[in-house]
Amino acid sequence: MSAAVFAFVAHKDGKADDSALELLAAARTLFPGSAPVALVAGSGPNVQTVAQEVATAFDEVWAFDQSDLGYPNAELLRPLLTKVLPQGAMVLLPHSPLGMDLGPGLSVKLDAAYVPDLIGADGLDGQMLKVIRQEYAGQVSAHVRCDVSHGAVVTVRSGAFPPAPASASGKVVDRSADASGLSARRQFVKLVEAEAGDVDITKEEVLVSVGRGIGEQENLALVEELAEAMGAVMSCSRPLVDAKWLEKARQVGTSGQTVKPKVYLALGISGSFQHLGGLKGNPFIVAVNKNPKAPIFQAASVGVVADLLELLPELTEAIKKAR
Ligand SMILES: Cc1cc2nc3c(=O)[nH]c(=O)nc-3n(C[C@H](O)[C@H](O)[C@H](O)COP(=O)(O)OP(=O)(O)OC[C@H]3O[C@@H](n4cnc5c(N)ncnc54)[C@H](O)[C@@H]3O)c2cc1C
Repeated sequence: MSAAVFAFVAHKDGKADDSALELLAAARTLFPGSAPVALVAGSGPNVQTVAQEVATAFDEVWAFDQSDLGYPNAELLRPLLTKVLPQGAMVLLPHSPLGMDLGPGLSVKLDAAYVPDLIGADGLDGQMLKVIRQEYAGQVSAHVRCDVSHGAVVTVRSGAFPPAPASASGKVVDRSADASGLSARRQFVKLVEAEAGDVDITKEEVLVSVGRGIGEQENLALVEELAEAMGAVMSCSRPLVDAKWLEKARQVGTSGQTVKPKVYLALGISGSFQHLGGLKGNPFIVAVNKNPKAPIFQAASVGVVADLLELLPELTEAIKKAR
């Protein structure tokens, strides 16, 4: 089955989101032999900048430059994509708030299957797309078959596919004329950036990240000592921020910071997709968890089944001696 495949490129400040190359990799896995087209919508010079950037990976890029598209608004993007996409198109979106907002309605408009939150693929069998999704907070992988004979809108979980290499010199097609006359009831008002904290975990190469498994706030001292011995910085999962044990600037995840360390120590973190969604750049993950079935072990390069409270003092001591 030869399909027209499209990848929606999210971008900010003139730079394509990491998801762009992940979607390209996912498109090639799902639809081998296809030539995925990148869709870049926005307003002003950033559209061309991003379009040129992604043309180093995609053979073709459609650019939509229109003043109302300055901020990604699903109410505008939905009719635009419905208008420009061919019948039977396969559309890949990041499984982000925008993708989740845009995807379901778009699939209805295109009369296509909606395949949300993909983490892997078993391939295409005739008109049946075989995909892998997670259920029960990552405890179970579900292998799902979807009839995509009328096309599909697929959202792809961040980090599920390693980014495709940027090895093309694609052409950029200006489709801005198609984006005129769009209107939405929902209006963009303003963007409020998260407050910067004392630390910037997004720039660190080694992160010692702690989760709810640490048990008590006073036990954080054990993690701090380990981080200090390693010359690393402490980050955390969201429950510790919600409990006000650590500041928001240290939270890794989809509603926290996106980090790209070389080494990531995950201590007492179960490995929810919201947490792992903030981990980019394929770091070397060392996970410590007392539950051998914790989902974090599926993402980890090295897994240690141990009780943190017993392991941490010994580990810190050993590192201090080694240094
Ligand atoms: C819209 C939304 C956005 C979210 N955004 C984020 C986000 O940005 N970042 C984020 O982290 N979460 C986020 N979450 C929350 C997320 O779903 C999980 O609830 C959270 O990541 C779980 O944190 P955790 O792994 O620390 O805790 P838990 O899931 O409770 O896991 C604790 C782990 O510690 C282990 N453990 C317990 N005691 C010990 C011990 N003594 N020694 C060793 N291991 C032990 C347990 O086996 C368990 O695996 C979000 C949720 C929603 C709904």
